[in-house]
Amino acid sequence: MALIVHKYGGTSMGSTERIRNVAKRVAKWARAGHQIVVVPSAMSGETNRLLGLAKELAPAKPDTAYNRELDMLASTGEQASSALLAIALQAEGQPSVSYAGWQVAIKTNDAYTKARIESIDDQRVRADLAAGKVVIITGFQGVDENGNITTLGRGGSDTSAVAVAAAMKADECLIYTDVDGVYTTDPRVVSEARRLAKVSFEEMLEMASLGSKVLQIRSVEFAGKYKVPMRVLSSFTPWDIDIHEEAKSGTLITFEEDEQMEQAIVSGIAFNRDEAKISVLGVPDKPGIAYQILGAVADANIEVDVIIQNVSKDGKTDFSFTVHRNDYARTTDLLKDKVLPALGATEVVGDTKICKVSIVGIGMRSHVGVASKMFRSLSEEGINIQMISTSEIKTSVVIDEKYMELAVRALHKAFDLDQA
Ligand code: ADP
Ligand code: ASP
Ligand code: MG
Repeated sequence: MALIVHKYGGTSMGSTERIRNVAKRVAKWARAGHQIVVVPSAMSGETNRLLGLAKELAPAKPDTAYNRELDMLASTGEQASSALLAIALQAEGQPSVSYAGWQVAIKTNDAYTKARIESIDDQRVRADLAAGKVVIITGFQGVDENGNITTLGRGGSDTSAVAVAAAMKADECLIYTDVDGVYTTDPRVVSEARRLAKVSFEEMLEMASLGSKVLQIRSVEFAGKYKVPMRVLSSFTPWDIDIHEEAKSGTLITFEEDEQMEQAIVSGIAFNRDEAKISVLGVPDKPGIAYQILGAVADANIEVDVIIQNVSKDGKTDFSFTVHRNDYARTTDLLKDKVLPALGATEVVGDTKICKVSIVGIGMRSHVGVASKMFRSLSEEGINIQMISTSEIKTSVVIDEKYMELAVRALHKAFDLDQA
């Protein structure tokens, strides 16, 4: 008998028919003698619908009172899907109970809309499991120390599931979704993408942070920190497939780097359309400019990603960086109003129609020429590289958004990712 956490995403919970299917699958696992905790997402489209209603009444803004209400609102999506799943399980003859995050309680900090989990009290969950119930815990949410409901950021149910698995020392966390595992790149963009039977935790962390939305990055961080065995698999297989076959399907996130992994130089390609580029032009080249520019941005709680500073000519230089597109207007306004006059720089210009494409692989550590192969492949397609950033196991380029799919396809082929 094992303690297993199942997580089902929005599409998997998308209709009463699908919820019934999830219930049959979960009941099958419980009948096999396992203790099961299920963490569901809201039904697909529900979180967007709720947040859309809020925006009809007042546009999104960096305002604590407003964000608190967004969390009150968005958290109801998971509350509904969790109760529906409990009802479906009971209809299957499987005793089940659902809890909202605050009832467990999953304690978080008070950063509304992007709260972080601080602790989980699993007492009542364990008691229910011992009584033979399947326990359902809403994904995506928790409660702060003053009793306010918080949410964990978009895609946050993955993090709820892994955090529950970590807190309860579960034997495994199974992330059921609408694809049958982690692919070399998004299979909806490149049809030749291949499923990876295993991916190292480090690579998964890079892929998630570079834009592969199959797992929320915080969930991978949790899995790494607490060594939670984790697998991504499909909720669209027939619910009654053999449980042993199901347990081995999908993609395992592994903490060991085996020989086969070392052979693959590049394991996957990630892309991200959520960023915008900002350049401060004609900055006097003297000590402290990076701090003056990026310090002001950080003070406004805006995260910066790729950064480049050019060589100076006649004592002046250009300084560019990327931020999330949602922060673009705020960042340029801030630079124009406060930083430009203080620095004596010439101009702030920006571009929101960019994307970041990255190759990821632990094999890159021990191979030279990987980045240059990437650049050659992009040049053969006539794609101009605007920015580059590298780390030990990834190389990212910022390019014009309209070439994103072309770039991902070309790189997928250049690194033979379509070959088994
Ligand atoms: P869920 O609702 O189950 O959480 P998501 O939509 O958040 O599902 O994540 C699954 C989606 O992630 C897939 O439908 C796929 O389009 C996308 N995706 C992006 N990159 C990858 C990748 N490398 N492998 C698999 N899926 C990916
Ligand atoms: N329902 C939330 C979202 O749409 C959380 C999740 O699905 O993981 O972002
Ligand atoms: Mg998701």
